[in-house]
Amino acid sequence: MAGKPKVGVLALQGDVREHAALLADLGAEVVAVRRPEELASVSGLVIPGGESTVIDKLSRAFGLAQPIRDAIRGGMPVLGTCAGLIMLADSVLDAIDGQQTFGGLDVVVRRNAFGRQTESFEAELHIAALGDEPVRAAFIRGPVVESVGPSATTLAALDDGRVVAVEQGNLIGLSFHPEISGEARFHRRLLAAAARTAGV
Ligand code: GLN
Repeated sequence: MAGKPKVGVLALQGDVREHAALLADLGAEVVAVRRPEELASVSGLVIPGGESTVIDKLSRAFGLAQPIRDAIRGGMPVLGTCAGLIMLADSVLDAIDGQQTFGGLDVVVRRNAFGRQTESFEAELHIAALGDEPVRAAFIRGPVVESVGPSATTLAALDDGRVVAVEQGNLIGLSFHPEISGEARFHRRLLAAAARTAGV
């Protein structure tokens, strides 16, 4: 249907439903992506939070890792939150042995940088690209961006300077979970990029 981008949520593990519901609320046609054919049918992708080591293993087991890498290289818009940011990072600290990522974001992230589940917190972030209204960000065992390479741009940092949101071309990576605090602007940005690349 014209004007309605078809986007996917990588549905191997993690908080898939919350992202799918938010995207549907924004008017997108949403596909749960578990197979290469499903990936090929969408013009944008959300990689949800969850556990990056599991998403890594399952994506390889399902034959999705290389198709996702190819899609990223080909310019597909992707929003990665939390474990999704880890999957988009070119380099990961405190990874488990043999852990791989899809890559694409010229950043180094550190897993579990904010401590345990019980140390979860919320913060307000100011992101100029999203307007004046602050972003309410929920941090749940998220990664921190330890360094931002020349190809990537910092979108937001905490008051102490730790970088928690980055962008590079059509890729957005967030340390936190916008989908649980009702923050829809990153998903809107993804849909706009998906509509552009799909020409709808
Ligand atoms: N700690 C998780 C990981 O390393 C990420 C946590 C999350 O996505 N909420 O993948």
